[in-house]
Amino acid sequence: MKDKIEQIKGLLAEIEKEASDELGQQFTKNYNALELPSIVSSIVEYLHPLLTPYEITVYWYLFNKSIVNTGEQYVRASTRGMSTIAKSGSGQSDEISYGAIKNAIDSLKKKEVILIVGDTNREGTLYKVSIPDEIPICKELMQKSSVEEVLGIDINKELDFYNVAENRLKVFERDGYKCHYCTKQLTRFSATLDHIQPVSKGGDNSLENLITACLHCNAERGNKPVMDFIVNAL
Ligand SMILES: [Zn+2]
Repeated sequence: MKDKIEQIKGLLAEIEKEASDELGQQFTKNYNALELPSIVSSIVEYLHPLLTPYEITVYWYLFNKSIVNTGEQYVRASTRGMSTIAKSGSGQSDEISYGAIKNAIDSLKKKEVILIVGDTNREGTLYKVSIPDEIPICKELMQKSSVEEVLGIDINKELDFYNVAENRLKVFERDGYKCHYCTKQLTRFSATLDHIQPVSKGGDNSLENLITACLHCNAERGNKPVMDFIVNAL
């Protein structure tokens, strides 16, 4: 009897481990399915080299207040309101001077990294925060690197609608940026991809095997009932 209890204990520990591994994989999967990480990479790769440190600081502040917080590219912000987003470059003050922020904003506007899209009121000016594939000076840099990629053209890449950013957008566009499960209206910053036939069951990354889903429904579908784990473990 004691042996059997030990056996059951061992089995339960195994199930628990498997379940937590699965959760970890699920998180990675959902995170990869979201476009935001690849946008962040393209900002670091293609936008940073064209900006000064203060411009980068202001850009990330606006990016967070718009795309990350609301899923929209629009944000109202004032020069005065940004004085404490970083220490001064000299390190001698806890605030950035009004002039330095104003210069950074003016330069970001000139480089068409941010655009004024509305009037200025008490809360500040309404800006659109652009992302690299919309920013003229970035597009040049991005095209150069994609030309280099095309030289070693890869047919698998053309057929991969999960890992290739341009292809992912085609899935979202086909589905009208709506979650397949709950029909919630999404943006390219909140939409994720879900495999109809899971990769673990032989599904591929073709256009036909992918659908648009919100992060919630995607995770929900991925969380298999505990009974599945128990049956699999037996
Ligand atoms: Zn949904």
